Amino acid sequence: MTGIKHIFFDLDHTLWDFNTNVEITLREMFVKYNLGKHISSPEVFIAEYRFQNERYWNLYIDGKITKKHLRTVRYRKTLEVFGIKDKAMAEQMGTDYIVLSPLQSACFPNCHATLDYLKEKYSLHIITNGFEEVQTVKVKSSGIDHYFDNLITSEKAGALKPHRKIFDYTMKLLNATADECIMIGDEPTKDIQGAHNAGIRAIYFNPAGEVLDGVHSISNLNQLMEIL
Ligand SMILES: [Mg+2]
Repeated sequence: MTGIKHIFFDLDHTLWDFNTNVEITLREMFVKYNLGKHISSPEVFIAEYRFQNERYWNLYIDGKITKKHLRTVRYRKTLEVFGIKDKAMAEQMGTDYIVLSPLQSACFPNCHATLDYLKEKYSLHIITNGFEEVQTVKVKSSGIDHYFDNLITSEKAGALKPHRKIFDYTMKLLNATADECIMIGDEPTKDIQGAHNAGIRAIYFNPAGEVLDGVHSISNLNQLMEIL
């Protein structure tokens, strides 16, 4: 692709392997809280947690519960399913998760090799809807911080993807035009439509191999070395 100077990456589910990192964290917590006494395996615990987490996330998204409540209730309900009624433990687990999960380091296959390659040719930046303090920790613990000139969070830009304001904010910061930039991300609306809203080209990353009509789609980060 011609004329590209800046590459924008999404972080969660694009570079930083969110699902794997959550699973590692929950396995650590299974051991730490001695859950084997009550629950047959970490897999059973993780499956129940995912169910409860999704249920309460949806309530949070709908504005029905607060973030603080979400952090604890997903553990309290998970524990209850296995006959553990311990509010203090659920609260401690909620706090632990927030601290431990960003410290995990799993990235998608070929992430480092691809960034090594791209860094030689382009200026790289992250654009993420996550919280500043959490995303900074993730980037450091996974050892990819040195590839990026900027970590732009929605907090910093004052807007969330897919709003064009977060892309405009980044371009202004870089003194760049839309056709000098390209966005890579896993969410069709937030990353791809968001970039398009700001007139920026985009590449869709889907490790399961799903493609988006009319959008360059990749299933492995190393494909970027052929395209860019
Ligand atoms: Mg993402």
